[in-house]
Amino acid sequence: MGIHFPVGFVHWYGQNPETKTVSRKTISHDPFAFHLEDNDIKKEKQKARELRNSQWWKRKCDKGICGYCNKPTSPGDLTMDHIVPIARGGKSVKGNVIPCCKECNNQKKELLPMEWEQFLSKK
Ligand SMILES: [Zn+2]
Repeated sequence: MGIHFPVGFVHWYGQNPETKTVSRKTISHDPFAFHLEDNDIKKEKQKARELRNSQWWKRKCDKGICGYCNKPTSPGDLTMDHIVPIARGGKSVKGNVIPCCKECNNQKKELLPMEWEQFLSKK
């Protein structure tokens, strides 16, 4: 037939046999991109686990202080937080992880990075 349907012309899906083929190609491209990202996230999470087992991290937690609000927190209650979240391209490196209390961890999850900065600057 030789007709070229523009990429993203997906609402034609199912109406025309040729469009169907084009659409399928379009759709299968995106999950592939996400798949790569998933692997990156898995890699960083694995690195975070290794970092959590390191002496460096244990020493940090032994101080028993939340890295965000400085509240005394028992080492067992401190969680590892990524300052720049992995999902936003943050890495599991010493400069990007901080022990924090559950309260801060929960609060940070709900806030946008900008709001979180404002929240911290008020402390
Ligand atoms: Zn805290």
